[in-house]
Amino acid sequence: MKYVIWVAIIFAGLWWIRQQRSGSNSPSKKNKGSNVMLPCAHCGLHIPENEAVLGPAKSNGTQTAYCSPQHLQQHEGRA
Ligand SMILES: [Zn+2]
Repeated sequence: MKYVIWVAIIFAGLWWIRQQRSGSNSPSKKNKGSNVMLPCAHCGLHIPENEAVLGPAKSNGTQTAYCSPQHLQQHEGRA
């Protein structure tokens, strides 16, 4: 009877590892602290902080985030 319990535990462990591996593809688990979403100042699209393109720092030290270098150029050029 003990043997059956161990087999069940091993199968549960393998299933858990498989779940962890399949879930590792999602960006939310990959990078720590990447849960912060920044809105693009040009089109308003929200992008993860680590994927955002940051514009030049303003006088107050803050940087404007953009979804792409194209939007950074378009927005900064317009300002
Ligand atoms: Zn944008």
